[in-house]
Amino acid sequence: MTEFVTRFAPSPTGRLHLGHAYSAWQVWQAAERAGGLVLLRIEDIDTTRCRPEFTQNILEDLAWLGFEWPEPVRIQSQHFDTYAETVADLAERGLAYRCFRSRSDLQVAGARLGPLPKHEETRNLDAGLPFAWRLSMDAARQALGEAFSQLSFTVDNGGHEIVTPVREDKLDDFIIARKDSPSAYHLAATQDDQLQGITHIIRGEDLIDAPHVQTVLQALMGWRRPVYSHHKLIVDHEGKRFSKRDRSIALHELRAAGLTPDDLWKRLGVA
Ligand code: GLU
Repeated sequence: MTEFVTRFAPSPTGRLHLGHAYSAWQVWQAAERAGGLVLLRIEDIDTTRCRPEFTQNILEDLAWLGFEWPEPVRIQSQHFDTYAETVADLAERGLAYRCFRSRSDLQVAGARLGPLPKHEETRNLDAGLPFAWRLSMDAARQALGEAFSQLSFTVDNGGHEIVTPVREDKLDDFIIARKDSPSAYHLAATQDDQLQGITHIIRGEDLIDAPHVQTVLQALMGWRRPVYSHHKLIVDHEGKRFSKRDRSIALHELRAAGLTPDDLWKRLGVA
């Protein structure tokens, strides 16, 4: 049997809801089918939005649902140094550049001033202003040479493995470290997938484009490429995605209302 190590990687920005339960079910089911393992990872690098009490709640809610995972749980905020080393490495190799504006700043400024040059405002370096790091796709293309145009990743589509070429139109320079955080999503998640030995990634369709940029990062860093699959997102009766703001479907509210995990699996149509 092929080695199968997957992960569930929630961000503790609120309480878990039905959408998370559905996603977790997909992850643990896939591991069970393959005789594999699920690791738990808390993606709490956004220290402005994540709260330790939500992490605690996540562990409680997942245990209530009946899921099990080996210890220790990987808590990303305890590994900022690890991500910072990768950012420094990419920067030293000329693959990342400093960026003094956030995407929203750029949009506002862009609307007012017209497009800004890519490597904008390097003069601010001397002013000691806080900055973010962005990975440069032009530099990545140069560094990888011929291999860049042949990058691909594998998607498991219901048992059929499909080799998917990385698409240029899905690639944009992306933030790898923020002004207020030494890492950003793609870098921390991709590095952790490598460090945790993840062979298979199962996550929602909202992240269907993530493998394109994550594959470039893996190629630049010499990291392994996991197999990806994406599950559909569950929607409410109006066809809208559930969000953390919908308290009615928060798992702890459903539990308090007397629902059992089995009721919930039936409601989600998986049991
Ligand atoms: N932390 C992300 C989320 O809660 C998941 C990231 C991933 O699976 O790569 O949506």
